[in-house]
Amino acid sequence: MTGGSLLDLILPQRCLVCGVAGGQLCMTCLDALPRIAPPLCARCGAPTAWPVERCRECAGRRLAFAGARAALAYDLRVRRLVAGWKEHGLRRLAALAADVVAAAVARPDATALVFVPPDRERRLQRGHHPPERLARELARRWQLPVEPVLERTRRIDRQRGLSREQRRRNVAGAFAAQGRVPARVALIDDVYTSGATAAAAASALRAGGARRVEVVTLARAIREA
Ligand SMILES: [Zn+2]
Ligand SMILES: [Zn+2]
Repeated sequence: MTGGSLLDLILPQRCLVCGVAGGQLCMTCLDALPRIAPPLCARCGAPTAWPVERCRECAGRRLAFAGARAALAYDLRVRRLVAGWKEHGLRRLAALAADVVAAAVARPDATALVFVPPDRERRLQRGHHPPERLARELARRWQLPVEPVLERTRRIDRQRGLSREQRRRNVAGAFAAQGRVPARVALIDDVYTSGATAAAAASALRAGGARRVEVVTLARAIREA
């Protein structure tokens, strides 16, 4: 049980997606996860009909990151998986998530990984932070250090149910970089929804000295065409 947390041992072993007894994610559901494949928008990583530099989702938006990539489409199955991961902090799930990301996303052109930092409150409640776990697992696979240079400057209200512009305003200025920020960093988060959080965090990294920020997430919301 190396790497397994106590929770892994005491929680009933059921697939978080379909509920079948066995592991936290059964082989059938692992195989069926909705992986994002090219062609993509070069900038925001949205799946597109053919390769484009900008797409309808990101054209005209000021985004502080050079590009965003995700491994999975954030559908109902992935939603269940991420919710279970957040809830229980299953260590093996972080390793699995990192495997899925490393298989789908090219190693970023960066010298360090940074994760989107948690609300103090939420971290205290849960005692773990999935984006940090994912960053640490990816760091091992990509042979890059994790530099925890981002911090929250204030509480962020829930993003759910907000429009894109409301989301942007909700997270604007909510992050700050501290210490020495590497010139090329990859910013790790669990889910990319509107890109507002990633853009705000990337903009703090840029203000702190980063010249190039790439965003890598486990999952990404896909807008209906
Ligand atoms: Zn399953
Ligand atoms: Zn785009």
